[in-house]
Amino acid sequence: MTPGAVFALPSHSSSSRARESDIEADRATDKALLETLGVIAADFEKAVDKYKKLDGKAKHLQAILEAVQVALQCGICERLHGDGVTFHECGHTAGGTCVRDAFRRILEQRLPAVVGFPISRDELRQIANQILLFGGDPNIFFSYPCPLCLTTIRRVPATATGLNNVLMDLRPTLATLHDGDGGSSGDDGDVNVIGSNFFCGLFLELEA
Ligand SMILES: [Zn+2]
Ligand SMILES: [Zn+2]
Repeated sequence: MTPGAVFALPSHSSSSRARESDIEADRATDKALLETLGVIAADFEKAVDKYKKLDGKAKHLQAILEAVQVALQCGICERLHGDGVTFHECGHTAGGTCVRDAFRRILEQRLPAVVGFPISRDELRQIANQILLFGGDPNIFFSYPCPLCLTTIRRVPATATGLNNVLMDLRPTLATLHDGDGGSSGDDGDVNVIGSNFFCGLFLELEA
């Protein structure tokens, strides 16, 4: 045994104890770090989960909006109308004003130049009687192709108020989805419930 070894023993033992306590302290720090990391990871997973749920909701909402938009988009001018009408014959929806103008143009082309566009039911009946007298069929004369599927439309379209109300509720959201193109000028921002005379002169069927 060397004298150095005698002296070294206590110092070795104390330094080894110090190292052990260092290791223990390191272990404690590691454990705390791991725990913190675990908490962060759990939080992150929760956040990801939340985001996924939100994303799912957003996608769902967007799908609804798209469906509403498709249902309300006018088949004639491709804009969203506040005066949508639905055809009984095929279920398609289009802007009331666009439908009326388009059907009016068709009827005006069919009418002889000397006969003006009927502005009352009496005038319409007179024209219908004339057509009958000449062996024609007023039902064919006063019928129009659906702008979307060409189904023959003979009945006064119904006002699509339910869908229009949905659209009005969703209008601010739709505007944010479409911001940039400055589409919502607001000139057709109101729901126009179509009056009983809206399609006057276009259909043989009595308007409800
Ligand atoms: Zn339109
Ligand atoms: Zn149709």
